[in-house]
Amino acid sequence: MKKIALITSGGDAPGMNACVRAIVKTALHYGLTPIGFYDGYDGLMNNNTIYFKYADVDNIIHRGGTVLGTARSEEFKTKEGRQQAIKNLKSHGVDAFICIGGDGTFTGANILSAEMDIPVIGIPGTIDNDIYGTDHTIGYDTALNTVIEAVDKIRDTAGSHHRIFFVEVMGRAAGFIALNSAIASGAENVLIPEELTDIEKLASDLKEQNKGKRSSMVIVAEGDDGGGAKEIMEKVAPYLEGYTLRHSVLGHIQRGGNPSAFDRMLATRMGSYAVDLILKDESNIMIGSKGDDLVTLPLEKAIRIHPSPDLSKLEMLKKLRTQEL
Ligand code: ATP
Repeated sequence: MKKIALITSGGDAPGMNACVRAIVKTALHYGLTPIGFYDGYDGLMNNNTIYFKYADVDNIIHRGGTVLGTARSEEFKTKEGRQQAIKNLKSHGVDAFICIGGDGTFTGANILSAEMDIPVIGIPGTIDNDIYGTDHTIGYDTALNTVIEAVDKIRDTAGSHHRIFFVEVMGRAAGFIALNSAIASGAENVLIPEELTDIEKLASDLKEQNKGKRSSMVIVAEGDDGGGAKEIMEKVAPYLEGYTLRHSVLGHIQRGGNPSAFDRMLATRMGSYAVDLILKDESNIMIGSKGDDLVTLPLEKAIRIHPSPDLSKLEMLKKLRTQEL
């Protein structure tokens, strides 16, 4: 009887619970033993476990966060830390390892697999969508919806007061949330790490597009080269005398909340598929989504390649924001 260890790791993302539930239920369906380790790699090193039963995953499909907890563990990056984790995994007789997280989590899993000779399956769970080999990561759709709901509300007040708003969203290294939330919320401008920010150009665009309009929204990815929303606003202010500028940082609300239908579906399918793959003796792969299909790719490739959003969408946004006057 195979024992499967699972963790959620890195930043929490809505839908992780749906994924844990699917892994546990599918494993139990096949007579396997799913063992959860709490708080990411910390749990492997501290031997903090739960031997899952069906009832443990009742009523969690709709909950944000992760019931298994998560952590960013520096100790696991050391050989000694991993040796402790391997000792604990062996003491439970674990045969395979599933991790739900981002590329850091996969890097840790890849090293663990090499040092312990254990099959690992990676499931992409991060709100940032910054993982190569999948159209969507678990949590991204929910985060996107949270952002557009917030931007809709900010737009109500921006329009009432004739304001230009700079809204900062998550995305340290990738602009997926910023670019796609800008499109979906009807924001006029977006600043993302993948494109150099030109403050003078931004100021002149804002002046141009604001003719005859009551407000403008600028979505700023937190990792933009020009700075966060506040910094960008302060840099642009000297060029925009007479305009009222405000900024808002959405922060951690983007991580929370009940997962969307899309994320629940994706998480459930990926979790169940991960167990199927273990039973087929697959190893060192990540599950991704392409259109309606689930696909797999080498974990190493998912770690090595950094995806960027479709930059042609920036050009489309520019067409939407100005008219011939
Ligand atoms: P997110 O995209 O939400 O930030 P992530 O999985 O990329 O998720 P990280 O904090 O980068 O988040 O990584 C999660 C954990 O994976 C780290 O805290 C660490 O324990 C482990 N990890 C990351 N890089 C390595 C590495 N080079 N060697 C061993 N373990 C690592």
